[in-house]
Amino acid sequence: MHEQGIAEAVVNAVERRAGGHRVRRARVRAGVLLHISEPALNQAFIMVSDGTVADGAHLDVVTEPARLACRSCGRTTTSDRLPAACPECGGTDLELQSGDGLVLESVQLAEA
Ligand SMILES: [Zn+2]
Repeated sequence: MHEQGIAEAVVNAVERRAGGHRVRRARVRAGVLLHISEPALNQAFIMVSDGTVADGAHLDVVTEPARLACRSCGRTTTSDRLPAACPECGGTDLELQSGDGLVLESVQLAEA
């Protein structure tokens, strides 16, 4: 399952960031092109984090739009899907700048 692999990546990143402390809450920014289902990711996160410092932590998922730069006219476009052509000039030489990445934005540790 797609979300399972993403949840594993999130838990690994949370564990590195937490440095052995218990985690209460974590927030990730996920590119819209990853097509993450938030309920499925939350469910996978609960399973994958079982027995780790993130066990019982709440996961917030923020979806980030795709950003593309047109190599023909230089215009930057944000979109919730991958456009086939530049909306400005119709050029198809588009460079994906963001939208397919996964970033651990913040980790909130539980009180000691
Ligand atoms: Zn263009």
